[in-house]
Amino acid sequence: MQPDLRGLTRADIAAALVGLGEKPGNAGAVFMAVHRRGAADLALLPNVPARVCLALGRAFTLAPLPIPERKLVAPDGTRKLLFRFPGEATAECVVLPAKDHQTACLSSQSGCACGCTFCATGALGLKRSLTPAEIIAQYEACLREAVDLRSLVFMGMGEPFLNWENVRKAIMILSDSRGRHFPQVKMTVSTVGVIPVIEELTTSDLRVRLAVSVVAADPELRARLAPMENTYPLNRVLAAVRRYCAARQAHVMLEYILLPGVNDRPSDSALLARLIEGIPCRLNLIPYNPPGGPGRATPRIKEFQQELIAAGVLAYLRQEKGASIAAACGQLAASADRGEQPVVPFTFYQGL
Ligand code: SF4
Repeated sequence: MQPDLRGLTRADIAAALVGLGEKPGNAGAVFMAVHRRGAADLALLPNVPARVCLALGRAFTLAPLPIPERKLVAPDGTRKLLFRFPGEATAECVVLPAKDHQTACLSSQSGCACGCTFCATGALGLKRSLTPAEIIAQYEACLREAVDLRSLVFMGMGEPFLNWENVRKAIMILSDSRGRHFPQVKMTVSTVGVIPVIEELTTSDLRVRLAVSVVAADPELRARLAPMENTYPLNRVLAAVRRYCAARQAHVMLEYILLPGVNDRPSDSALLARLIEGIPCRLNLIPYNPPGGPGRATPRIKEFQQELIAAGVLAYLRQEKGASIAAACGQLAASADRGEQPVVPFTFYQGL
């Protein structure tokens, strides 16, 4: 099958044109026709010479932009969109409302291979990684749902750094000035700790922001909650984060999902504070929501925050949105409706 032109960066298009015996200077017009003007036919790209359209048509397709199969809207205004991509690869994206703008949360994979035990996506396993065009389709759908979309987070289904080549291309395409021109500094990519990509970002030209999911400060507990610990231990992840911050003069966002009775003890906050000491960061505490709906209260969350603040950590409570439609952190399972969420009982991680 011919590749989809929609998934090519402008540089990719320029290289393809050279390969087709055409001038690379047409790449900007081609890119703009596809990503800004919404061209749907390779034979009729606005402002692109017919000869170039013909040449591209021999090597590429321009698949219609996928549209979501289903939309759920929560009382708090959160919107969750379900896509069914080829090969029964389902994925969800979420539009999160704030006071005067919205944030789009995009998926990078259908399912996830990481197997974090608190996460509905992890319970699915990995179906497949999404293509750049499929990631862009989620953005376009979120854009249609939003009034003022100001930030993008790659915190939906999947581990973005295990599909980095496609996520990187999607970032390049979405931020290109001939396309949507979405600022890279308004994009955040979240990882559970894939060190080689953190290291790549350290020296890369990309301006995206980095978020790292800490999960637990104790290595044994973290390994049980987030098996990635066995490949990339948190102490090495945080060493890479320190190098990233120093080289880029950047802050990082650390995320800590609070699992009542598991990782919210005073000893956990003390260990966490010691572990991240000196890292220029903001730490977001995320209340746990079980798959399928809102969780019970996490009684220790405020105390946990205060313990961290007392230890010098900039700790914030994340205002969770969309739990009633299973759109909050860790709940995305790409089910056709809420009733089909995988059954993972709230207590599944207890007694570890
Ligand atoms: S928390 Fe993130 S990395 Fe872990 S299983 Fe869920 S989607 Fe994958």
